[in-house]
Amino acid sequence: MAPTALVTGASQGIGAAFARSLAQRGHDVVLVARNREAMETLAEDIRGKGRTAEVIPADLTDRTELRKVEDRLSDAARPVDVLVNNAGFGTTGRFHEMPLDEEDREIRLNVLALMRLTHAALPGMVERGKGGVVNVSSIAGFSPAPGNATYCGTKAFVNSFSLSLHEEYRSHGITVLCVAPGATKTEWQARAGYDDSAVPSFAWQSAEEVADGSLRALDGKRALFVSGWTNKAMVAATHFAPRSLLARISGTVSRQV
Ligand code: NAP
Repeated sequence: MAPTALVTGASQGIGAAFARSLAQRGHDVVLVARNREAMETLAEDIRGKGRTAEVIPADLTDRTELRKVEDRLSDAARPVDVLVNNAGFGTTGRFHEMPLDEEDREIRLNVLALMRLTHAALPGMVERGKGGVVNVSSIAGFSPAPGNATYCGTKAFVNSFSLSLHEEYRSHGITVLCVAPGATKTEWQARAGYDDSAVPSFAWQSAEEVADGSLRALDGKRALFVSGWTNKAMVAATHFAPRSLLARISGTVSRQV
């Protein structure tokens, strides 16, 4: 039987690239996001290449809809071998002026849904003695940034959570991988209202580069994959500079507020 991978945020961007790449590597896929039509189109494409593709439309910030996906992950009759927690979004602006409900939704998606889905997937993986969880974070998780306070906070959670779990589960045959992309050509910037004009052209990556590199890192049982050499250099620099200085620099460079 082919292994199965469940990908959240699979309707577009990095998640769709993960789904395509996993199918190409021989996985059946379960696609999760809100946009059913986009996922059906992708599923058709994947089925045409000989793999099974299931579509679960769900708003992961909604507890009832999230539960449907948790139930799918914990269904012992249909084991999920790889979980890709990719769905996420950002918000940009002065924190006190941001609509509070949107900040709240950002934490529910980027943090709570990721934590709950990981919790639903792990018991079966522990029982089977194998599995993979890929948590899509961001280089924003390594450095505070004025104008993106909530987003950076959510991704700092993903980094710490994933690296802790990597160590906790590696002796169980399970790899928990934290993926930290930098600027990637998707709808993310437009949805976040993020001014990306300061990002130099050489720093941009494609969704496919991020997904393919992540799956190679998962094969290598790595704990952390920072995608792209400019991002690797930026993350390396964060290990040496004080966080207050990093926040000052990132505010000056990004000019988001
Ligand atoms: P994207 O093109 O905006 O895709 C985001 C995905 O998340 C979509 O499939 C969207 O699908 C899904 N999603 C959003 N809200 C959802 C909700 N409430 N419930 C379920 N699914 C939801 O952005 P992307 O660049 O591919 O982002 C993927 C991940 O990479 C995110 O975690 C993001 O923070 C991270 N990341 C991106 C960049 C970048 O520069 N692009 C950099 C670093 C990290 P629906 O709208 O159909 O629900």
